[in-house]
Amino acid sequence: MNYNIAVVRGDGIGPEVVAETIKVLEKVGQKFGHSFHFTDVPAGGAAIDAVGECLPAETVRIAKSSDAVLLGAVGGPKWDNVPGDQRPERALLGLRKELGLFANLRPAMVFDQLADASPLKPEIISGGLDIVVVRELTGGIYFGEKGHKDGGDMGPAAYDVEQYAKGEVRRIAKVAFDMAMKRSRKVTSVDKSNVLESSRLWRRVVAEVAEDYPGVELDNLYVDNAAMQLVRNPRQFDVIVTSNMFGDILSDEASQITGSIGMLPSASLADGNFGMYEPVHGSAPDIAGTGQANPIATILSGAMMLRYTFGLGEEAKSIEDAVNRFLSDGYRTADLCGGAPEAVTTTQCGDLIAANI
Ligand code: ATP
Ligand code: MG
Repeated sequence: MNYNIAVVRGDGIGPEVVAETIKVLEKVGQKFGHSFHFTDVPAGGAAIDAVGECLPAETVRIAKSSDAVLLGAVGGPKWDNVPGDQRPERALLGLRKELGLFANLRPAMVFDQLADASPLKPEIISGGLDIVVVRELTGGIYFGEKGHKDGGDMGPAAYDVEQYAKGEVRRIAKVAFDMAMKRSRKVTSVDKSNVLESSRLWRRVVAEVAEDYPGVELDNLYVDNAAMQLVRNPRQFDVIVTSNMFGDILSDEASQITGSIGMLPSASLADGNFGMYEPVHGSAPDIAGTGQANPIATILSGAMMLRYTFGLGEEAKSIEDAVNRFLSDGYRTADLCGGAPEAVTTTQCGDLIAANI
């Protein structure tokens, strides 16, 4: 099969980690007989420098007509003085909106070989950890009505409205249950339905969706309890589904359990199978150009693209297995070994993983 992928290499280490990911995807293509076609499109700081705007219309057009988007990272201190609506990070918000990316998937995985990087005690994470946080991305309090009372932004009060429509909850719940079907068949829905009306609606709609998935276990937790359980007993979780704000907080918490920002992929999905795939980390300008960037987060984002957008589960697994093998063989990028002299470079890491496919 042929697959068209729009590529935003981005800023800082973005182009370095994306190059290694393309290398690995091409190897997968050769091995399994697929043809991945990559089209570079500018966004973020690189686009500001090239054409004077962070998200050119042409980038959006090409992204929309592709099967998926692969993104490195955007932004950096170079663009600190760019006006607000043209800041590089705006390109991400713009892409999410234009592409209708309403579901943000963030796996938090602890590779056994890297367990000592986790801030949690070994007995809490022993046997590995594999959680996915499914965060609603285009609704809720971040997008509800906002304002100030009397006297504008120096007045006595300000407000933000949390609102969810049933349809919004239903579609994100479906993403979570579909994912659980491919994993350990457990969904934990996180809300605050003891105090929030929007959470009461959330809980009811999630329960309705659950009826269509009799093989999946549904658990409901209040967000404060979920935050606590994530560090006390994270192995109870498989798929966590939650609102935009709770998901923002819990996905950061979950990612820190793993202790290695350079290993964490993410996906943002739209209706149908379209998705944008990117590492959780940023553009890391402090190490750009030094060969110290760990490309694994982006490479694993490529695996998610194969699994969730193209439906290529076996091919996705071949990438995850290749990463596992790289770690088991004892190789470490600088971030995984405190910069020890035997660290492999970004390019060597990509070469070794590609060779393991
Ligand atoms: P953003 O606001 O875009 O999320 P940030 O400033 O919060 O960016 P990152 O760019 O993710 O953070 O960098 C945080 C730290 O982690 C930096 O010291 C960076 O060098 C390191 N880091 C991030 N990604 C990687 C990676 N892939 N490999 C090695 N180190 C990384
Ligand atoms: Mg950050």
